[in-house]
Amino acid sequence: MATAPAISAPKVKQTRNLINGEWCEAASGKSFDVINPATGEPIAQVCQSDKADIDQAVSAARKAFETGPWSKMSARDRGKLMFKLAELIEQNTEELAGLEVLNNGKPIGEVLAADVPLVVETFRYYGGWADKVHGDTIPVDDKMGQFFCYTRREPVGVCGQIIPWNFPMLMLAWKWGPALAMGNTVILKPAEQTPLTALRIGELATEAGFPPGVINIVNGFGETAGDALVKHADVDKIAFTGEYKTAQLIMANAAPTLKRLTFELGGKSPNVIFADANVRHAVNGAMAGIFFNQGEVCCAGSRVFVERSVHDEFVDSFAKKAKARKLGDPFDPTTEQGAQVSKDQYDRIMGYIEVGKKEGATCVAGGEAAFEKGYFIQPTIFTDVDNDMRIAQEEIFGPVASVIPFDSIEQVATQANKSMFGLAAAVWTRDIAKAHNFAHLLRAGTVWVNCYNTFDAGAPFGGYKFSGHGRENGKAGLDAYSETKTIWISLK
Ligand code: ADP
Repeated sequence: MATAPAISAPKVKQTRNLINGEWCEAASGKSFDVINPATGEPIAQVCQSDKADIDQAVSAARKAFETGPWSKMSARDRGKLMFKLAELIEQNTEELAGLEVLNNGKPIGEVLAADVPLVVETFRYYGGWADKVHGDTIPVDDKMGQFFCYTRREPVGVCGQIIPWNFPMLMLAWKWGPALAMGNTVILKPAEQTPLTALRIGELATEAGFPPGVINIVNGFGETAGDALVKHADVDKIAFTGEYKTAQLIMANAAPTLKRLTFELGGKSPNVIFADANVRHAVNGAMAGIFFNQGEVCCAGSRVFVERSVHDEFVDSFAKKAKARKLGDPFDPTTEQGAQVSKDQYDRIMGYIEVGKKEGATCVAGGEAAFEKGYFIQPTIFTDVDNDMRIAQEEIFGPVASVIPFDSIEQVATQANKSMFGLAAAVWTRDIAKAHNFAHLLRAGTVWVNCYNTFDAGAPFGGYKFSGHGRENGKAGLDAYSETKTIWISLK
């Protein structure tokens, strides 16, 4: 990767809620600290909302959906607004990248190479769909030639969108892209740890010309602002990305109002290396699979299955590379791994490292905090792991890999699927038939062959089992934001 340009921390300008096109404080006047994970110090106070603010945002979103200019805007013009937003994000790349680094702790090189371009592409991709989703004419069984039957694709309505802290900008784009393309209005509740880039993108959306009430952003905690959004009777749908335990709560809380729900949740993804793979490439893939974004990735390749005959060679090289990985200031363009997002997340990961040691796994790399200041954790690799251990079954969401040896394709397929999750998987082999066969055996929403963590706005993403409901990205992403209406016309 080319070295990223030097970017310094930008000024935080926006800390309020965006409701009905206006920036406003929380009704309660309360706020909370947002922390820089690389230092543990506060960087801003963001307004802390609760039910009163959610009520205002829902009523603005409802009005915009039903009677505002958005409700009458042509699909092509909606697409143009999305292209404009993509352009403004691209023009403000450095500021947005800097804010993301400051607030999340991820390294600037990755934000410039992955987060910002993927956000821009998501808005362009879905902007392109806006005027291309259409209904069908249906050849009904109509012996008298009496009927004309057709379908329309219509927006779901007011959509509540609750996102996590690991890819704050990208998760916003995955939520807004299909929702806006289909003509919905949205209320975004950013993660309380990382609201800053969403607020700046909210300003850019206003500049792009989205009418008031179409895009609303309400800051606050999950238990208050998020909860009020989930329970609100006038919200038609909740799209959520986060922990499966939160999704269970959301599902229960959304039941009385029977909301439409889509979930993108956790994972414990198997990364399977056969002996006939290019082992050097597989090691690089395993590094990217688990250590990208400090391991705070729902599809992280946290269970690395290695065929026994190449196990030791693989582990040697994997451990060497992990030890050489450059941790440090996320604003340094040469940094490869930044800080974990918060003290809570840091404690949770360090707790799991202790669990691994106690369960009898061997720590061959890392296993310790990296620096005294900030939430940095060494890239950590455990060997002698059994697939039934807690470190191989529970989602750690940090830079911790478990290496598990295997002897046959049948055995590894069973073990790979032995997980409550089914978000992603990867397989490394030079045998094309084995790659396809194995990919078909896996119960996972995405399977990478001889690669890891490749994403595209056009490629559907989502999970089996406890990893979620529905798909984001691609044409499939539009289904979750539209209703199909069937219209029968009597021609007699
Ligand atoms: P994490 O524990 O990693 O922060 P969560 O699933 O708790 O992951 O958080 C993801 C998002 O869900 C955040 O925006 C958070 O505020 C929100 N959230 C947490 N609890 C609730 C809840 N009870 N209802 C609605 N949203 C919630």
